[in-house]
Amino acid sequence: MFDGLKEKLGSFRDEVEEEVEEKEAAAEAEAAEADAETADSVSAAEEADEPATPAGAPERESTEDESDSPGRLRQAAAFATGRVIIEEGDLEEPLWSLEMALLESDVEMSVAEEILDTVRETLIGESRKQVDTTAELVEDALHDALVDVISVGQFDFEQRIADAEKPVTIVFTGVNGVGKTTSIAKLSEWLGDRGYSSVLANGDTYRAGANEQIEKHAENVGRKIISHEQGGDPAAVIYDGVEYAKANDVDVVLGDTAGRLHTSNDLMTQLSKIHRVVEPEMTLFVDEAVAGQDAVERAKEFNDAAEIDGTVLTKADADSSGGAAISIAHVTGRPVLFLGTGQGYDDIQEFDPEALVDDLLAEE
Ligand code: GDP
Repeated sequence: MFDGLKEKLGSFRDEVEEEVEEKEAAAEAEAAEADAETADSVSAAEEADEPATPAGAPERESTEDESDSPGRLRQAAAFATGRVIIEEGDLEEPLWSLEMALLESDVEMSVAEEILDTVRETLIGESRKQVDTTAELVEDALHDALVDVISVGQFDFEQRIADAEKPVTIVFTGVNGVGKTTSIAKLSEWLGDRGYSSVLANGDTYRAGANEQIEKHAENVGRKIISHEQGGDPAAVIYDGVEYAKANDVDVVLGDTAGRLHTSNDLMTQLSKIHRVVEPEMTLFVDEAVAGQDAVERAKEFNDAAEIDGTVLTKADADSSGGAAISIAHVTGRPVLFLGTGQGYDDIQEFDPEALVDDLLAEE
């Protein structure tokens, strides 16, 4: 999962490390040169039988070389105290490579910029004490920058289900083929593992074959499915699902909806009718991680049409770029809540930004 991105983040760490090592070597050479010069002047003074620096004499004038680069002197001083300071110039190239890497990984532009800004701010002026390694400093900065953008709006999904009045209705939206119906069945299993019963309701009355598709999943996971004829009113199907749940003491209603209508206006009208009729606790947007930028764009569009509460990102197992997982929360202001990690019904993971970032930054 997200291996390509992981590799690229590793390259950034290596590049900064290289820059700092070069600088450290230069500072070391500078310090050694200064020592040698002092030693030379001492021995020359001894040979001439004179004190090295006559009392009251002005300090030795800086050589041309030194006055050229006060930065080098500061670095040499920092080195003498066991520290190397990271400056903007050291980061220029690695940051440029990082930006390219993020964009190539389908991270949305504004999200990539936010990550770069945070990394730059955190690292510049940072002094690498000899107890730290540059890799650790870079890792901390990247960790914080990534967690900041990924965890926008994060909330505890299970707690929200626990606290909500039953039955809890969750409506799913998103285009067809991304794994929406599979995810509904997976979530039904996930909830079952945590002691919550659920019923499925097929509000995708728009598309031919939608009933058969979700019925098959319901059968596979052994759940009741409520459906109406194609062309029926989606709000009415989900309403029936809620009635069924009330009558049978079922905790959660998982309602599918059409993935795409003629216009986003139709989509909004449909979702707002569902909202009026059944007042869902949450509307979750489903898309596939492998769609990268397209998934980010669609998340934005759906969220603009009808506010979503979070995203389920499927096919993360097949995605090496990670761009959608990194960008969607920041772009929509709503968190990624689950990752689909395979075709089996238990291939679903609650999204944990800290764990994801730790994994992205772990050294191979
Ligand atoms: P829908 O049209 O959006 O409802 O899509 P489906 O639920 O029918 O899924 C489309 C295809 O994606 C199916 O072959 C699923 O098995 C597959 N799929 C769904 N979720 C995942 C996932 O997390 N990982 C992988 N690798 N495949 C998935």
